[in-house]
Amino acid sequence: MIKRLVLLGSTGSIGTSTLDVVAEHADELCVVGLAAGSNWQLLARQAAEHRVRDVAIADERFADELERACPPGTRVYRGARGLVELVERADANFVLSAIVGAAGLPATLRAVDLGLDVGLANKESLVVAGSLIVPLARQRGGALLPVDSEHSAVFQAMAGGRRDEVARIYLTASGGPFRTASAAEMREATLEQAMRHPTWSMGPKITIDSATMMNKALEIIEAHWLFDLAADQIGVLVHPESIVHSMVEFRDGSTLAQLGTPDMRLPIQFALTFPRRLPSIAPRLQWSEGCLLRFEPPDFERFPALRLGYEAVRRGGTCGAVLNAANETAVERFRGGDCRFCDIVHMVEDVLSRHAWIAQPSLDELMQRDTWARNEVASWRNGR
Ligand code: NAD
Ligand code: MG
Repeated sequence: MIKRLVLLGSTGSIGTSTLDVVAEHADELCVVGLAAGSNWQLLARQAAEHRVRDVAIADERFADELERACPPGTRVYRGARGLVELVERADANFVLSAIVGAAGLPATLRAVDLGLDVGLANKESLVVAGSLIVPLARQRGGALLPVDSEHSAVFQAMAGGRRDEVARIYLTASGGPFRTASAAEMREATLEQAMRHPTWSMGPKITIDSATMMNKALEIIEAHWLFDLAADQIGVLVHPESIVHSMVEFRDGSTLAQLGTPDMRLPIQFALTFPRRLPSIAPRLQWSEGCLLRFEPPDFERFPALRLGYEAVRRGGTCGAVLNAANETAVERFRGGDCRFCDIVHMVEDVLSRHAWIAQPSLDELMQRDTWARNEVASWRNGR
C-alpha cells in the first residue's frame, strides 16, 4: 500500500530531508499535504515539485502570497487552525510531525486522534503532552514511530528482545560544541559558538538545545513516554563520534545498539517504511577503514539541563510542559542577544521550581502552564 504523507514542518531541516527520502522512494511514498510556519516561497516550490494539492501555512500574513505562488487548484489552509484542518482533510494515512516546538502539538494530537500513524520528530509534543498523546494513540490504534535518531535506535534495538526483558537504555549525546569547554567559557559563550554543532546539521533551536544539552533532557522525557521507562532506566552517555545512536541493555546484561552515519535521512526513512528496510541515500559507515568509538558519562555540573530532564520524568504532571515552554522562550531570548548562554538553563530551572504543579493535567491546564512559563521567562531578569 502506498503511504500518503502529510508533512508538518516541510521547510525545515527534517522536512527537507523527508522530501529527499520521499523522492527516492516515489513508488511507495507520496506527499498529500505540506505545512510550514512562514517560508511560503519554499513551501510553494515544494507543493509544485511534489504535486501536492493541500498546503498549510501557520503565519497567515503569507497565506495570500502562498496561494498566488502555488499551482492552480492548490487548497491553502491558514493559521494554526489551518494545520489541524490539513491533517483532517488531506486524505493521509501517515503524518510526519517535524514542526519545531510546542507549535506542533495541536496538529500532532489531531493526527493521533484520527488513528493515523505518526512519525514523530517533534519531540516537544511528547515532552509537553506525552500523558495525553500516548494513551490516545493506544486507544485510537495508530502507531507512534520515533524519528529522533536516539529513539529510532532504541526502537530498533528493542526488537532484539521482549519488552519485559529490557533493563535500561542509554541515550547517546555528541556533547555538542561545549563538550570540552570550561564552565567559565560556557558562561560567556556566543550565539555563533553555540551554533557550531560538531556532528549534526540541524535547525537553529535544536542546535542550541544540543549546546546546553537541554536536547538530551527533552529526549529523556521523550524516551519515558515512547518506551514506558522510569527515570532510572534511562542513562545518558556522551559519545563524540555520533555513530552509536543509542543502546538497549537487556536483563541478561547483553546490550544491543544501532549504528550509522549521523544523517537524519536514515531514521526518517525507517519510520516511513517500518517494518521494512529499503536502500538509503544516506552515506554508509566505512567499517573496513576502522574507527574509534568513545563513551563518557555526562558532566551534570556543566550541563545542569540533564538533571531537569530527570526531574521532569520523576515529578511528571505539568513539568514537561513548563520545562519545554521555558526553554523555547529562553532559547529565543538567547538567539535575540537578550540573555547569556548560561541563563537559558537557569531560567528553565527557576521557572520549573516555581510553577503551580498539577499531577494529571488536562490539555487546557498544560496550555495554561505553557503560557505562564513563557511569560515568566520573557520577563526574567538576572539575579532574581
Ligand atoms: P527547523 O527549524 O529546521 O524547521 C522547523 C519547521 O517547523 C519549519 O518547516 C518551520 O516552517 C516550521 N515551523 C516553525 N514554527 C512553526 C509554527 N509556529 N507553526 C507551524 N510550523 C512551524 O527545525 P528542525 O531541525 O527540522 O527540527 C524539527 C523538529 O525535529 C524539532 O522538534 C526537533 O527537535 C526535531 N529533530 C530534529 C533533528 C534534526 O536533525 N534537525 C533531529 C532530531 C529531532
Ligand atoms: Mg536526537
